[in-house]
This record gives sequence, C-alpha cells and structure tokens, in this order.
Amino acid sequence: MARVLAVSNQKGGVGKTTTTTNLGAALALAGQKVLVVDLDPQGNASSGLGYPRAEVDSGVYDALMAFRDLEDVVRPTSVERLDLVPASRDLVGAEVELVGEAQRERRLRRALDRVRDGYDWILIDCPPSLGLLTINALVASDAVLVPLQAEYYAMEGLGDLLRTVDAVQKHMNPDLEREGIVLTMIDRRNNLCRDVETQARELFGIDVFASAIPRNVRLGEAPSFGKSIVEYASNSKGAQAYVALAEELLARRGARAARAAS
Ligand code: ADP
Ligand code: MG
Repeated sequence: MARVLAVSNQKGGVGKTTTTTNLGAALALAGQKVLVVDLDPQGNASSGLGYPRAEVDSGVYDALMAFRDLEDVVRPTSVERLDLVPASRDLVGAEVELVGEAQRERRLRRALDRVRDGYDWILIDCPPSLGLLTINALVASDAVLVPLQAEYYAMEGLGDLLRTVDAVQKHMNPDLEREGIVLTMIDRRNNLCRDVETQARELFGIDVFASAIPRNVRLGEAPSFGKSIVEYASNSKGAQAYVALAEELLARRGARAARAAS
C-alpha cells in the first residue's frame, strides 16, 4: 500500500515541484514504485518529467471530475518505476468547478484509492495556495512534506499551512501526519539555516530532515530538458541531496513499520 505524501507550502518558488519530481525519481532509483501527481495548474511537475502542459490532453483534472478513472490518466516517465499523473490546462478551472460538487474535498482521495495498491509512494505536487486543490491533497495523504526555504520570513507562512493541516486532520482526515520539513536552496550550512531548523522544531513541533537541499544550478536546468536530476546530472550535489533525502524517508518508513510490528 502506497504511502501518500502531499508536498505543500502555499508560498511559490520554495522548491515544491523540484522536491516532488526529484525525490520521486530518487525513490524510483532506490527500487520503489512511485507515482507523482501534478496537482498544480501550472503543470511544472508534468513538464519537468517530460510532459509539457500544452501537450497533455487528459490528467488529474479528469480524475477529479470523475470523467476518467485515475489509472487511465497515468503516464510512464523516462525513469523506470516512476509514473506521472499530469496536469492538463483544464486543471485551472477545477477549484471553481468543484465548489458545487458533493464530497468535493475527497475527490482526489477517491480517485487515488484505485491505484494505491500499485505503488510504494505517491507524491502530490501541490499548488501555491491553501485552496480546494491543496485540501484535496491533504485529505488524500498520509502525511504532509513541507519544502521550506531557509529564510526568517518563511516561518510566517508555515504557521498558516500547519493550521490548515490541523484543521484537515481534525475534520476530514484523522490519520494525516506531519512528515517533516525539507530545507531547500541552502547556500551553505550557515547559522540562519540552523536557526530556521531550531525554530521549526520548537515553534511548530515539526521534524526537519537531516538531508537539506543545496542551491545547485543543475537542479534549475534539469526541468527544461524534461528530466529529473538523477538522469540529467547524477553526480551533482543536487542529485546527491535528493538521493540522501529518499534514503532518509525509506529509513523512517522502515522504522515505523518495525514499531507497528512489535
Ligand atoms: P515551487 O514548486 O515551490 O514553486 P520550484 O520547485 O518550481 O518551486 O522552484 C522554484 C525555482 O527554483 C525553479 O526555477 C527551480 O528550478 C529552482 N530551484 C528549486 N530548487 C532549487 C535548488 N535547490 N537549487 C537551484 N534552483 C532550484
Ligand atoms: Mg511548483
């Protein structure tokens, strides 16, 4: 049964998409079967994995609206074991179109239930807002993974996000957990980063992954070739960081399974 993670932060440009696609590729490289769901109408995860939005005629929108079964909009990527549910142009209208629908917060969960058994991980790339699409991601997920740029003002938005996560947990998805924070675009292991780390733990009681993602030009270049970093520049610092993050997630999942079994 897949572990489903919502990669979410309502700020744009903090590394959500970069983390979703490259963590997905790194997990696949480690032998895991992975599905990336592009839930951002901008479609950056889709184009970054080889499916530019203009060329996508069906995707997560069709599954949300129940026009298509989710398995019918899954595409393979150039990474073995890594699949994608792309975002088509229609997704722009989904928030408005869903408002009048029954069970509108549970649409993605219901759609993903059809494929949960076929994957080890499902990673959902969320849009930069706390609207209905993000709520759908949180309701469908086992946990939320928060990419955070290590800056002081990054912490302000974190409070809003975690309050939303708590509200979803309380009213719609009691099993929703906080997987943790991934610090992104770090220039070096400086004091500011350590402060943000300490504050995140102390103020919000949320874990920070030991594997922080450095600022690395290769990570910025890879999507324009429709490739993940593990294909585009496998020896780069960026690739190494996402491979380390994947290992950390796998170790945690192993520990959790061992606890549950004992
Ligand atoms: P979001 O999905 O949160 O809006 P993105 O993942 O798209 O953020 O990242 C924003 C921009 O920063 C993109 O152009 C991306 O290529 C670049 N970027 C993200 N992470 C890094 C990194 N660690 N090093 C260099 N550039 C990065
Ligand atoms: Mg994005």
